[in-house]
Amino acid sequence: MNTVYIALGANLGEPERTLRELLDRLQHVPELARVECSSLYRSAPMGPQDQPDYVNAVLRAQTNLAPLALLDFLQHLEDEFGRVRSRRWGARTLDLDLLLFANLELHHPRLTVPHPGMTERDFVLVPLHELAPELSLPDGRTIGALLDGLPSHDLVKIT
Ligand code: ATP
Ligand code: MG
Ligand code: MG
Repeated sequence: MNTVYIALGANLGEPERTLRELLDRLQHVPELARVECSSLYRSAPMGPQDQPDYVNAVLRAQTNLAPLALLDFLQHLEDEFGRVRSRRWGARTLDLDLLLFANLELHHPRLTVPHPGMTERDFVLVPLHELAPELSLPDGRTIGALLDGLPSHDLVKIT
């Protein structure tokens, strides 16, 4: 079994409900074991402000899947939970990014691990730090040090 960390994000439809339904579902899938999730956080969108806030979280789980098989599984879940079947929006309501896979560094056309954006994103680092305060990246940098290096963070924990 390998330990994996996955970032969850949603901002269309009912994001909080989407993430809670996803988490319920993940308690019962054979692909993942011992699923634990951070609090949910609300974050203002980057860029245009006329779009809904995001809801973000990070989960930790154990898996026997290989990295690309795990990516396939996550993309399948994005499709299942993420498509708004309305006329106007084709947008995804769910983004599942694989942050860390054990202590692996992987550069594949479909999959880069650690996720390249994670070191700069407060909406990843804050929930990740809540879940795993002592965690380090494969290159040795700690999540705490990465968080300290961010200019500021503007997340609200959803109770
Ligand atoms: P970002 O990755 O910057 O957060 P995004 O999540 O909006 O952007 P997507 O549209 O969800 O991007 O994914 C685009 C592609 O990224 C996917 O098809 C997938 O093959 C690739 N990808 C590479 N590395 C990863 C990773 N660690 N986790 C998820 N997808 C990845
Ligand atoms: Mg993403
Ligand atoms: Mg993604």
